[in-house]
Amino acid sequence: MSDLPLPPGSTLGVLGGGQLGRMISQAASRLGFDVVILDPEADSPAGRVSAAQIVAGYDDPDALTRLGRLCDVVTFEFENVPAASIERLAEAGALVAPGPTALRVAQDRVDEKTFLNAVGATTVDFAVVDTLSDLDEAVAVIGLPALLKTRREGYDGKGQVWIRDAAETAAAFEAISGRPAILEAAAAFTRELSVIAARDRDGAVAVYPLGENRHANGVLKITLAPAEVSAAGQARAHEIAEAILDGLDYVGVLGVELFELADGTLLVNEIAPRVHNTGHWTQDGCVCDQFEQHVRAVVGWPLGPTAAHARVEMTNLLGDEVEAWRDLASDPAVRLHLYGKAEARPGRKMAHVNRVLGSA
Ligand code: AMP
Repeated sequence: MSDLPLPPGSTLGVLGGGQLGRMISQAASRLGFDVVILDPEADSPAGRVSAAQIVAGYDDPDALTRLGRLCDVVTFEFENVPAASIERLAEAGALVAPGPTALRVAQDRVDEKTFLNAVGATTVDFAVVDTLSDLDEAVAVIGLPALLKTRREGYDGKGQVWIRDAAETAAAFEAISGRPAILEAAAAFTRELSVIAARDRDGAVAVYPLGENRHANGVLKITLAPAEVSAAGQARAHEIAEAILDGLDYVGVLGVELFELADGTLLVNEIAPRVHNTGHWTQDGCVCDQFEQHVRAVVGWPLGPTAAHARVEMTNLLGDEVEAWRDLASDPAVRLHLYGKAEARPGRKMAHVNRVLGSA
C-alpha cells in the first residue's frame, strides 16, 4: 500500500470509461498522474485519453486483480460498482476511494433515504414496497400523487412511475416488473438545485456554490451556476453536504441533488458518490474543477479552492445536438467539452458546453 500523498507519476485506476472517467483522467494527467481505465467496451472515451485501458467487466476477478496491482489508488465514475469488486481491488494492494459504505448507501434508494434522514439531510416521506399490497398500504399512508421507483439501478428517470390515482397501483407495480421499490411523496419543489462537495483523507470538506438544474425528459439539460440562492440557502446546502460526507466517512467528490420548496426548505433527492453532471460548470467557473478536486482527494492531496470566478451556463448536448460544435467552435463565450464518442445515438450524452455569462 502506497504512502500518501501520492506523488506525481503514481497511477490512478478508474472503473468506468465514459465521459466522467475521461474528464477525471484529463484532470489527473494535468497533475502528472498516469491513469488506467477498466471498462468492458474497448476504446472507451476515457480509455482513449489514458495510459492504458483494461477491457473487461467490472466484476472480472482477474481484471480487477491486474488493475489493483497496476494502480496505487482506484476510483470509479459510476455508483453501481459491485461491492465484491472493491474488495478484490483492496486485496490486490490498491487504495479505493470513495469506500464501500458510500457505494452501498447510494446503490439502494431506501438505504440512501434512511441514511440521509439519520444525518439530518431531510428527504420526502417514503415507504418500502416489496409487494402490491405494500404499495396499496404505502399509497394510503403517503398520499397521491406519489412516485414509485425501483430501489436499485434507476437513473435519469428510468425505473420510475408516477401514481396519480389509487386505481393505478397494479399497473405501476407491473411497469417496474414488481421489483423491490420505494414509494416517494411528491416533492412540491419550485427549483431543482445541486451541490457538489468534496472531502479529503483528513476529513476537510470543500463545497462549491449551488447549481440550478433544468431537466428535459428526465435528463439534465442545463445547469446555471452559481445559482441565485440566499446566503442562508447556501449555508444550509453546505451543512447538508458536510453531514453526508462526514456520515459516509467519504473521500472524493460527491453530488447532492436537492429540491427547493417555496419556503426555501431544501430536501435531498439523491446523492451520487462521484463527480456529477451538474458539476461540469466548475471546469470554466472555478480555478479547481470537480474533476481535479476528486483526484486531489483520492490521491491524498489537499483540496483546491471552490469559489466561483465566473457565472456559467452548462448545456448538455445529447445525440446529434453535438453537430452544433461547428457553430459553437466560433462562439467566444463558450468552451466546448466533447467526449470523443463515435456514435451519436439519440439521447446519448455526447458533449457539454460551458457558456461564461460574466464574472461571479
Ligand atoms: P431521480 O432519478 O431520483 O433523480 O429522479 C429524476 C427526476 O424526477 C428528478 O430530477 C425530479 O425532477 C423528479 N423527481 C424525482 N423524485 C421526485 C419526487 N419525490 N417528487 C417530485 N419529483 C421527483
